[in-house]
Amino acid sequence: MPSGKTHDRITLWGLPLVLTAAFYLTLDITLTVIVCISFLVGGFMMGPDLDIHSVQYRRWGPLRWIWLPYQKTIKHRSQLSHGPVIGTVLRVLYLGLWIALFGLVAIELLTLLGAVQLTWADLRSTVQVSAMTYFSEWMAPIVGLELGALSHYVSDHIGSQLKKQRRKRQRRRK
Ligand SMILES: [Zn+2]
Repeated sequence: MPSGKTHDRITLWGLPLVLTAAFYLTLDITLTVIVCISFLVGGFMMGPDLDIHSVQYRRWGPLRWIWLPYQKTIKHRSQLSHGPVIGTVLRVLYLGLWIALFGLVAIELLTLLGAVQLTWADLRSTVQVSAMTYFSEWMAPIVGLELGALSHYVSDHIGSQLKKQRRKRQRRRK
């Protein structure tokens, strides 16, 4: 299994490829930038190894504790963290829950202080309208995050295949 440093290097080496593919497919600079940034975030911070005390986990700094329940629930390298698509979807939903929770507390506090007057209906309709108007901009980060995680799954897989082959060769030699 490649180390955190190797995963970082693979992410960086993958960036020109992702940039070219994203621009070729979208012909849109904004979408390309969103995909590239999310690809880097997917590789460096939102990757599958958040299921252990990894470099990715440590990069969350003072907020890293939010991933502790995730680590407790999900076994390292299980399909739920290291499975294509499902891994990213679960992490995005999980982080979404925390963002919703923080948002909820912030809105309640601001309303209490009289700083804003925001109702849940206002908030829901704003999110709905922006999701419909900016559908591609909402999808681009998901695609980028998945590509970042994908580079991880693939290198993990290649790493374990190489290890298996090496072990076989050593056994044959004995
Ligand atoms: Zn891994």
